[in-house]
This record gives sequence, structure tokens and C-alpha cells, in this order.
Amino acid sequence: MILSAKAMAISPSPTLTIDAKAKQLVAEGVDVIGFGAGEPDFDTPGHIKEAAIAAIRAGFTKYTPAQGTPELQKAVCHKLLTDNNLSYSPDQVVISNGAKHSLSNVFAAILNPGDEVLIPSPYWVSYPEIVRLNDGVPVSVPTSAANSFKATAAELEQALNKKTKALVLNSPGNPTGQVYSREELQAIAGFAAAHNLFVVSDEIYEPLIYNGQQHVSIASLGENIKDLTIVVNGLSKTYAMTGWRIGYTASRREIAKVMASVQSHATSNPNSIAQKAAVAALLGPQDCVAEMKAAFARRRDHMVAKVRSIPGLSCIEPAGAFYVFMDVSATFGRSCRGQNITGSDDFAALLLEQAQVAVVPGTGFGAPAYVRLSYALAMEQIEKGLERLSRFIGELN
Ligand SMILES: *Cc1c(COP(=O)(O)O)cnc(C)c1O
Repeated sequence: MILSAKAMAISPSPTLTIDAKAKQLVAEGVDVIGFGAGEPDFDTPGHIKEAAIAAIRAGFTKYTPAQGTPELQKAVCHKLLTDNNLSYSPDQVVISNGAKHSLSNVFAAILNPGDEVLIPSPYWVSYPEIVRLNDGVPVSVPTSAANSFKATAAELEQALNKKTKALVLNSPGNPTGQVYSREELQAIAGFAAAHNLFVVSDEIYEPLIYNGQQHVSIASLGENIKDLTIVVNGLSKTYAMTGWRIGYTASRREIAKVMASVQSHATSNPNSIAQKAAVAALLGPQDCVAEMKAAFARRRDHMVAKVRSIPGLSCIEPAGAFYVFMDVSATFGRSCRGQNITGSDDFAALLLEQAQVAVVPGTGFGAPAYVRLSYALAMEQIEKGLERLSRFIGELN
């Protein structure tokens, strides 16, 4: 039996793997604290659910246009104009089954075999794999903790060659919480424009910024860079709607057209009911977003302070998203009940086994000295989990 070499080379999402292991332990009755979650712990706001229920009752349960309903495309245009100062027409917007699916459409639309895509590292686990699935070559561009893991134009330039086709930007970012400033984005926009590179700008954590910085979409920095940028965003993180599966892109019309064709054969349209809910989310009251953000901010402050108080652990202050990226390299070479810690995979496995705390090892993010802790869980859970972490570190030999 010979299966696809390309598909066989893809590794399963490590964030989902550790999550599955933790859930299995919970099912066995073990009291696990899970810092692995990549989704808000809040329920989807009531008015959004009501819109979905109304859609079902009204019989809005049939295929929609492949690219999404005109109503939702218009709501996205309204959002992009009011929040991001970006003017698009509805036919430049493609609604998909989550931002991950949008990214898949983007790389399907822009890559030819062998095209290289610059991905600042640490990166979100799925970028390199989605690029590979679309016959591209992911090129990891190392960034430094001293610059809060933000790529500079100079670092990107070092990885540039004739095959470079695009670069990925993720601000606010997963897993490090980095948020690029307008000036930093201007420098990157200049670099991209000079070399005619597409910019895939994943803005899924847009409203979750805690240090007073403003989110800037690189596409808003001028017509030239807007033409090269594909803005990727979605409802999952902002409105606690991960299970509803709605994401979208905004781009040049010709790219949107290709993505819509690809999608029409892959999945037809995104879920009709979820599209109605998404309209309610984008056009309805936004205080639910502010409330979730305030809770995340309190948890972030607590987690950063606690991690920094534990000898041997450290982290930079994440400016956005809902993760703390923790440097655990000081524990490498130490051991726990006779088992050695040689890297973040061991660290995460032992922490789960010995202290019933789940974290995601940095290996999948291209950062083997780190682990990622999510603060998308209740404050009492966070406190309890960090106490266990502290004790685990204290007992290492
Ligand atoms: C969660 C996440 C996504 C995917 O979100 P969906 O809309 O649920 O598919 C995309 N990019 C990053 C960086 C994420 O963390």
C-alpha cells in the first residue's frame, strides 16, 4: 500500500496531541490542569447564539454562495473599514471554515511547486505544514527573544533568494504574544514591496493586546503593500467561536477569485448557520470582547509574575494573544525521579506525568528551549497549575 508521500510527511498538530493526552487523563479521573488549550475558555456570547438559533428556525439551512453570503462579506468589509482603515469590496472577501482553512486557500492560490515562504520562528505550528501541503517550501527565519521574537526586515532579507514568494506575519502572535508596531511593519512592508513578496497577515488575535499598543494591519500602510497582502482573520478567538468555524480573507480580487474556486470544490460554502452568527458577532455589541480581554489581561499579569518568581524559569512579557512562552532551558540536564530532561518534549511529558500539568513543548513551534502555557482557563485553575509547576521545578535534581 503506497500512500501520498506529501501527506505522510505532515506531522499531526502537537498542540492537539498534548491536548488529547491531557483529556485522556481527565477521562481516567486524573485531576489535570491543562495549559495546552488554544482556544478561549469563555462561552460564545448569547446574542451570537440567538442569531444562529433564529437562522435555523427561519430555515437558513441550505448551500450559500461558495465565497460566503453577501451579508457576511459586507459585514467583514464594514469591520475592516472601521477597525483597520481598510477599504475592500465584498467580492474581495472570501469566507471560509475558520482562519486555518483561509490560510490553506491562500497558499493554494499563491504557491507553485518549490516556492519559498518566509516564516518567522517561533511560529504557529500549522504554517509550515500548510505551506508543504500546497507544494511550497517553508523557510524558518529565527528571531530573538531580545526583540520580543519579532522579525526584522534585516533578518528576513538574510533568508531571501530568487524562490522566495511570500512571508507570513502573525501579530498579535501565537505562541510568543509578540505585537508589531507601525514602524516595524513599515520596515517589513518596504522589504516585501522591494522584492514583490506576498504578505500573509494572520490577524486572528487582533483585539487581544494588553500593553496599550494599537493593532495595525500591514495592509493599511499604503496601496502598494495592500495589493501584496492577504489579510487573514476569523471569529474563533475574538468571539470565543472556535467550534463554529468561520474565518475570512481580504485580498486583491484576482486572488480572492482563485481562492473561491478552490474552496468551491473542496468544501462548497462555510456553514450557513455559523455565517448568520458571524454577522451578529461582527455587527452586534462589542462589550463581550472587552470583557474577555479584561479577564485575559488579569490572568496574563498573574502568570507572568508567577513564572518569573520560579527559579530556573523565565519569559518575556507577551503583549498580546493568550499565551506565555516560557524558557525552560535551565532545567535541561536536570532530572525528575531518575528521568532526565534533555529538551522541552521531556519537560512537558514529565510535567504531565509527575505533576499533572499539561503544557505544549516548543519543538512544534520551532523553539525547543521553550514551552507554551495558555491562560485561557479560570484564574483558580491557573493558580493551582502554577503551584504544581513551582513544586515540580523545586523537586528537580
Ligand atoms: C487559532 C489560530 C488560527 C486558526 O483559527 P480558526 O479560525 O479557528 O481556524 C490561525 N492562526 C493562529 C495563529 C491561531 O492561533
